[in-house]
Parts: sequence; structure tokens; C-alpha cells
Amino acid sequence: MTTSNPVPPYIGRVPLVGGFYAAGCTLCGWVGSSEELTDDCQCTRSVGDRYCLGDTDEIGTERLLAIIQAMAELKQDATRFRFIVDCPIREAVAISRKANDPTFDLTAECDRLIEKTAFTSSSA
Ligand SMILES: [Zn+2]
Repeated sequence: MTTSNPVPPYIGRVPLVGGFYAAGCTLCGWVGSSEELTDDCQCTRSVGDRYCLGDTDEIGTERLLAIIQAMAELKQDATRFRFIVDCPIREAVAISRKANDPTFDLTAECDRLIEKTAFTSSSA
């Protein structure tokens, strides 16, 4: 499954232990421990009052790292968003002035200001 956003829509809560492996459902995109699959290795995510029962593939470390990296990127985006919401009026005015510039990159500007103001996400 190749998608521009590798973060799975559903992630199993069961920790990966023993001889189980990381599995991904080819139908709904669920990712989790093979412990949660049926005996036929089908997805047991609840869809209404039944199981998804999509086929699953074992997923490797490349995919798992890609998921972690994508999640880290989302967290960074969340920090940027919070910065915009929480940022001082003075900075907000500066950003809005530059926003009409076609070369203005809001993401880069926020990263620069977050750095400069030592803004950190309180949830971190
Ligand atoms: Zn599924």
C-alpha cells in the first residue's frame, strides 16, 4: 500500500510480544500486532457489528519507521498550528503582512519564529 500519508487510520493497542509480528490490513489500513488477527490472519477491527476481515500483510521496519516519521511530522505541524494560535500579536501581524508575498513560506516562517521565541508545545 503506497500513500502520501503513511500514518495508519487505525492502530492496534496490543503490544507486540513473543512470536507475533507487526501486521497491516490491506482493506482498512489498520496496523497492529498479529496477535489481534483471526487464525486466518484476517483483520479483527470492528466495523459496525462485525469484523473487517481484510487480508493482512506483515509489515517491516521500513514501514514502521515511515509511520513514526510521519507522526513526528504531524506533531511538528501541530506545534506550528498552536504557535499561530498562541503567538503574540506582534508576530501575528508580521506573519499576516508577509503572507501576501508569493515566496512566503508559512511553515518555514513558523519554524523560524518557534526557534526564536523558544515556543514549545506544553504537551511535549
Ligand atoms: Zn481491516
